[in-house]
Amino acid sequence: MTEISRRSALGAAAATAGGLLAATAIRDDTQAAVGTETSSEAHDDELPSFRFALGEQKPIVYSGGHFREASVLEFPAAENIAGVLVNLAPGGIRELHWHANATEWAYVISGRCQVTVADPAGHCEIVDFAAGDVWYFPRGHGHAIQAFGSDECQFIEVFENGHFSGFATFSSTDWFAHTPPEVLAKNFGVPASVFAEFPKREVFIGKGPAPEPLPSDPPFGSQNSGPLTHRYRLEAQQPQTFAGGSVRLASMKEFPLSTNMTGATMRIKPGGLREMHWHPNADEWQYYLAGRVRMTVFGAKGRSRTFDFGPGDVGYVPLGYGHYIENVGEQDAEVVLVFNSGTYQDISASGWLAGNPPELLGANFSVSPSVFAQFPKQSVFITTGKG
Ligand code: MN
Ligand code: MN
Repeated sequence: MTEISRRSALGAAAATAGGLLAATAIRDDTQAAVGTETSSEAHDDELPSFRFALGEQKPIVYSGGHFREASVLEFPAAENIAGVLVNLAPGGIRELHWHANATEWAYVISGRCQVTVADPAGHCEIVDFAAGDVWYFPRGHGHAIQAFGSDECQFIEVFENGHFSGFATFSSTDWFAHTPPEVLAKNFGVPASVFAEFPKREVFIGKGPAPEPLPSDPPFGSQNSGPLTHRYRLEAQQPQTFAGGSVRLASMKEFPLSTNMTGATMRIKPGGLREMHWHPNADEWQYYLAGRVRMTVFGAKGRSRTFDFGPGDVGYVPLGYGHYIENVGEQDAEVVLVFNSGTYQDISASGWLAGNPPELLGANFSVSPSVFAQFPKQSVFITTGKG
């Protein structure tokens, strides 16, 4: 996989030359062919890597499944959002736990699982998930996930805290193992001997008989769910379509419980371009499912970096940074996008320019205002570059 950058000698030129000379260097650099990056070491004033190969990471393996993690320890650029890729075997249980420092958003990539999630109002929603479904667990809500059916279940969990790690996970087995049996006995009103066979340490991912799927029409009064569900069926949504691809999006508007996260799936056709844009209100975290894309992130002061992404790769774009994504492969590219705000916002280059007087644009870019007559009249979102 190639990492590509436009940095070249720009830093040195900008440091030694003033005003116009530096500006000239920037323009030359931008026009130069994109070169292959040979070193991952960045100087203080340079941008960090915005790509992390999560799928190539060696997983941490348990009896019922395995997981891979990208927190700020593994992926330093992603300061505000972390991700975990989990695989559960049929019957595999991500044990009863909660997270002290982050809400959890997830997208089910394949297979099926049953989730229980307890809220502070005393509700416990029990709900089945299939590929294309999204869950959202508010910070601190207790939950468990068990795969069922004949296939492995894979999902990508995203946390709105880059410093999230296993240490902020509070597991039921860990807690019980570190509580005296007499206290457990008093707490639950049962003999202390009941706890003799309980695990002596954290299980994290265990295994048991896989549950039956829930009835699609549960008997009246059989459930104790809260007023807002933790599940949103993202792939069941009618996508927004554009010349170069399509998007399904779940902000707080579509998924009311998801007050501080927005998730989306985006498909880009071969040759398509998710146009130049930025997000005024959120960092962007990406997990690539299919295809080959190239993303460039612009970080001001003449700094931009370009990376290629394929299935299993994670990308990150800091709040406010300009970026665009081009499908450079032969097949459709698919990516899960997650933002750490419940309100989705972006500003696109095409929409921005369309809103400005041609005379101003002409003066801004030192060209004739008439040039802008052929520009799009509104945001193109995902374009093919053909009118
Ligand atoms: Mn969790
Ligand atoms: Mn974006």
